[in-house]
Amino acid sequence: MNVAENLEGIKNRINEACKRADRNPNEITIIAVTKYVSADRAIEALEEGVFHLGENRDEGLTHKYELIGNKAVWHFIGSLQTRKVKNVIDKITYIHSLDRLSLASEIDKRAQTPVKCFVQVNVSGEESKHGLEPEKVIPFVKDLTGFANIQVIGLMTMAPNTDNQSVIRSCFKRLKGLQKEVQQLNLASIPCSELSMGMSNDYDIAIEEGATFIRIGSSLVGNETGGV
Ligand SMILES: *Cc1c(COP(=O)(O)O)cnc(C)c1O
Repeated sequence: MNVAENLEGIKNRINEACKRADRNPNEITIIAVTKYVSADRAIEALEEGVFHLGENRDEGLTHKYELIGNKAVWHFIGSLQTRKVKNVIDKITYIHSLDRLSLASEIDKRAQTPVKCFVQVNVSGEESKHGLEPEKVIPFVKDLTGFANIQVIGLMTMAPNTDNQSVIRSCFKRLKGLQKEVQQLNLASIPCSELSMGMSNDYDIAIEEGATFIRIGSSLVGNETGGV
């Protein structure tokens, strides 16, 4: 396991996907998902120039934040219990899992400055997945305009766990379509210019379909257990 080598391979695949889609690789931010690994691995990612780190539990975030602090840009990518907002809000710049008004209200109350939020959408409809049903996205973002500290910078989804590439692709296409619908609302605090989609197994497809943030864990930093 070597983060530098993994990163080189990933960057090559990003470049290839960008060529196929006629996109500029600079539009794509890699988030190293460090939820499975120790802080050492996260620091290795920073040393390779990957400054965006993603965690999905408040304990993991807090532990690594104590060691790394603001040398990284922190993303909260997991489902977030309302009562835990206060533990993470001062550490993170991005939240990828906004999916209900009670959570928006708590973020709005606790944040000192506007938080960059992705509305998480359950495009695949799998019961195990969090996120809003696609039909609920438009009414939801309209409700979010009242919160001064919520800035909806984009939408996030997780593709279904399948080898069927066309199923994965149609999931990402649907998110892109929803993004366009949200953008057409032209709401000041809802630019919705970003798409957080693509993980280790499907980031090439996500890039071809318009991803601007890809969340990569196991194929970049590994998945040794023992990440706190
Ligand atoms: C764990 C996780 C990832 C990274 O998964 P890999 O398949 O290891 O790349 C990305 N996004 C979310 C929301 C996750 O929970």
